[in-house]
Amino acid sequence: MIELLDAVKTYTQGRRTVNAVRGVTLRVNSGEFVTIMGPSGSGKSTLMHLMGALDTPSGGRAVFHGQDLQTMSDRQRSLLRRDRIGFVFQAFNLLPTLTAAENVALPLLLAGTNRRQALHRAAECLERVLLAHRAEHFPDEMSGGEMQRVAVARALVADPEAVLCDEPTGNLDTAASREILTLLSKLPEPGKRAVIMVTHDPNGASYGTRLVRIRDGLLESDEAVRK
Ligand code: ADP
Ligand code: ADP
Repeated sequence: MIELLDAVKTYTQGRRTVNAVRGVTLRVNSGEFVTIMGPSGSGKSTLMHLMGALDTPSGGRAVFHGQDLQTMSDRQRSLLRRDRIGFVFQAFNLLPTLTAAENVALPLLLAGTNRRQALHRAAECLERVLLAHRAEHFPDEMSGGEMQRVAVARALVADPEAVLCDEPTGNLDTAASREILTLLSKLPEPGKRAVIMVTHDPNGASYGTRLVRIRDGLLESDEAVRK
């Protein structure tokens, strides 16, 4: 479903060149929950940006359902992200002036869905993250764990084939982290959806089906997680 084939990403800052990803091959299929771990600066976020079509590789290939990201225009990649990929970030990234339901509905509203339909779909997604009772609440009325559940609901609103999470438990206490990890572990479905998560959370890997370790821009190991 998502493939990196000897993918390379080089950043240039003035005269300095950073080889963030130096040749990584990784295939993720629906049904998988892939955890990516590695030291700070090892290239995890860069890898995530390549898999999420936020960026294109400097070398090698990044392929989503058989289509090379490099062959797509910025507009096509943007539509791919909007319609087929959900994102969850460490910082929740909810809009403070919108209710939980409106935050979840926002991607659909921006895509042109009518308000009634968008809010109906948002309600389904809030139910899925067990937050139906918080639909009319604003972010500052919610705990960190609840805000992140709203963010997960928002990531699901377009029924994406991949949910990409960058340190989703980085701002949460242990109990809230476990809730989010449990929730994420229920999202992958064979033939339908994969979850990919970058994390430093030592508990994180045990919730996944597969653990990938990255070091210095290279894949160090890639193993199934024994349950
Ligand atoms: P991680 O997520 O594992 O901390 P990153 O993918 O963020 O690693 O970064 C890998 C390397 O690439 C680091 O050396 C980082 O400083 C560099 N880097 C990341 N993004 C950029 C950028 N936009 N411009 C320049 N260098 C970057
Ligand atoms: P951090 O890794 O510190 O948690 P963020 O999660 O805020 O940082 O953002 C990670 C990266 O994803 C940033 O480069 C940011 O520009 C990008 N990003 C954040 N929100 C979105 C979004 N809704 N859609 C696309 N890209 C985003």
